[in-house]
Amino acid sequence: MPAAVYVGDGRIAVEEVPCPVPGPGEVLVEIAECGICGSDLHMVLERYAKPGAILGHEWSGVVASAPSGSGWSPGDRVVGNPTPGCGVCRPCRRGRPSVCLTRASVAYLGYRGAFCRYKTVSADGLIRIPDSLPTRVAALAEPMAIALHALRVGGVGPDDRVLVTGTGPVGLLIIAVLRAQGISDITASEPSPVRRQRALDVGATRVVTPDALVDPPMGAPVAEPYSVIFECSGHASAVEAALGQLDYAGTLVIVGTGFEPPRFNQNRLIIFELEIVGAYNYDEDGFRSAVDLLNSGKLPLESLIEPDDIPLSEVMDSMERLSRGEIASKVMVRPSMSS
Ligand SMILES: [Zn+2]
Ligand SMILES: [Zn+2]
Repeated sequence: MPAAVYVGDGRIAVEEVPCPVPGPGEVLVEIAECGICGSDLHMVLERYAKPGAILGHEWSGVVASAPSGSGWSPGDRVVGNPTPGCGVCRPCRRGRPSVCLTRASVAYLGYRGAFCRYKTVSADGLIRIPDSLPTRVAALAEPMAIALHALRVGGVGPDDRVLVTGTGPVGLLIIAVLRAQGISDITASEPSPVRRQRALDVGATRVVTPDALVDPPMGAPVAEPYSVIFECSGHASAVEAALGQLDYAGTLVIVGTGFEPPRFNQNRLIIFELEIVGAYNYDEDGFRSAVDLLNSGKLPLESLIEPDDIPLSEVMDSMERLSRGEIASKVMVRPSMSS
């Protein structure tokens, strides 16, 4: 089968690879769509992936074959569903199944993903796509589950003044979910004009360029501080600027991955009692909630997904354009599309 394979040196190429053979209890899924994630960009463009890796984890598909008694039949439309937390390890006991110690840690660097035609999945690791939800939209379930989890981690509510820094695909999803959950005071900071416009399209009430986030005066908040900030750009400078915009007892939720570490003023953290927290993975029933929200009619889906799907052969080019901020929203790869 064809696959977009990481070949080293920051490059992806379409290669023929063996079709995976389902093991006991496994379903063979034909991938319908797979979104390109910011983490895929890091893996490829910053060369963290191992040569031979197939990336892509934001997929929807159709069951091609399933073991009898599994509850699945060929033709069923599905998205992946991570296994629940064990409920007994320390993170689970503290209400954080997203980092359950027993969850099979994904071998990210040699990851066997979905930028290819077929994938095997454990029969109990799937959710059925509702009849009224297009398969293409259902491929947003994974990043939507990430966005829902980030909102929960941030403890955000209707009274919050919220800032989102970086409005690539994840920032846009977070803005859309904030709006769908009744939060109305949402500012977005973003250098790319096309992404600023898209932030307004999906529900931001105000957009600014990053240079508008001025350094705060010593020992006092900025003129219009924020109670919750979602950092989605992964840039150290954005993390630093975001911390300066927080109000007393404010929370900075870090969602964007990055490899250059930020610097921060610990005294400000102390006297403002600021909280910095990372948001990784999903809530316990995160995919189901994500599918329900995608199916609710409450989201500006046409602004969250790029209008034209791409074949495997265009993954590399789209990654480069995404990294330059030229593409605003989620790019969907359709592996069955001929190039
Ligand atoms: Zn992702
Ligand atoms: Zn656990």
